[in-house]
Parts: sequence; structure tokens; C-alpha cells
Amino acid sequence: MIDPAAALQDVNARIAHAAKIAQRKAEEVTLIAVSKTHEAAAIEPLIAAGQRVFGENRVQEAAAKWPALREVHAGIELHLVGQLQSNKAEDAVALFDCIHSLDRPSLAAALAKAMDKTGRRVPCFVQVNIGAEEQKGGCAIAELPALLDQARTADLPVIGLMCVPPAGIEAAPFFALLDKLARDHGLAGRSMGMSDDFETAIMLGATHVRVGSALFGGRA
Ligand SMILES: *Cc1c(COP(=O)(O)O)cnc(C)c1O
Repeated sequence: MIDPAAALQDVNARIAHAAKIAQRKAEEVTLIAVSKTHEAAAIEPLIAAGQRVFGENRVQEAAAKWPALREVHAGIELHLVGQLQSNKAEDAVALFDCIHSLDRPSLAAALAKAMDKTGRRVPCFVQVNIGAEEQKGGCAIAELPALLDQARTADLPVIGLMCVPPAGIEAAPFFALLDKLARDHGLAGRSMGMSDDFETAIMLGATHVRVGSALFGGRA
């Protein structure tokens, strides 16, 4: 069993160290504690240790866990880091404070509609299929300009780009590429880096790192 408070302290220290090497401020990096598959009892100790920003990859799972936790704990910020079906866009807009998986025109349209209807403008990252992998979520690099144009026209608040690099190979080139694409499009946010590579991501410009197992231990 992992000690959540100690794990959080360790991850925060590693974030601070990587930021320092890169001559960045640690405050420029938001740690998203990815709590998918973990129950409230496992999440509580991290909240008690001061963590407020959490990530989930499924709308239904988040809807089952987080409203109750939010009733007892102030200041929770919830990010959706997993793929989103257009028919869940309205639920996602109601529940989440940030969406990292905007990756196609139909979803942009559904999110715009949901935001107009609810009056809640939820910041979004456009997820890029950075390794051009078949069957992986994310917009193809070639389709990114058109998707960003559509989002702008629909008044969707796009704050950056997000990626999940291919598994099993060095992630750094993919982080560097996402950083370049974000710069080319004038976007400040870079959601990249997970438990195995968040320090690399920070050195290459990550503003949001999504860390699960390093904080919670392995998932079933
Ligand atoms: C699960 C998940 C993470 C966290 O992964 P770890 O390797 O456990 O840190 C980050 N991003 C996304 C999109 C995920 O689905």
C-alpha cells in the first residue's frame, strides 16, 4: 500500500525539481491527480493532504463519486482526461471544470451546444493524436487547424493541447512536438506527462501533468 500523503509530497517535490532545472516556476505546472478506478476512501487522504485538482476518465464514474466528495470538501477542481462521447457532452459540461479530450468536429459542436444551454463555459484542451496511432483518441495533426477554427467560431474556450504519446517508446519527441504545435497556434496550455514521464514533460513545457499510479498505486 502506498502512503498517499507521502506520495503527494514526493510527486510535488519532483515537479518542483523538474521545473527548477527548466528555469520555470513550479506554480506554472498544475498537478492533476488522476483518481479513475479509485474509491472515495482512497481519494480522501489526498484531499486531506492538500490536493484539490483531480482527473477522471469516465463521466459516469465521476458522476457517481465526486458530487458527494464536493459537498464535504471545498475548492475541488475536476478534469475530464478520457474520451468523451457526444451524447455525454452535457453531463460533462455540468460536472467538470476542464475537458482534455476535445478531438473531433462532432464533439466540438456538442460541447458548444451544451455550454450555450447551461451557460457554463468549461475550458478545453484539444487532444492531438501525436503519434499518428490507429484507434487512438485525438485529432490528427493535419486536422488540428480546422478543429481549432471550428472551436473558435463556436466560442469554445480552448486553452491548450493535450496528448498521450505511444506506449513503450521515448515520449520526449512527442512532448516536444505538442509544445511546438501549441506555440504555432498561440495556445498556452500543454497537458502532457503521466506517472512515468511527467518530469520530462515539464522540462518540455507541460502546464498540466496527469498523474495516477504514482499517487494512488496501481490500478486493478
Ligand atoms: C490514467 C490516465 C493518466 C494517469 O496515468 P498514470 O500512468 O497512472 O499516471 C493520465 N492521462 C490519461 C488520459 C489517463 O487515462
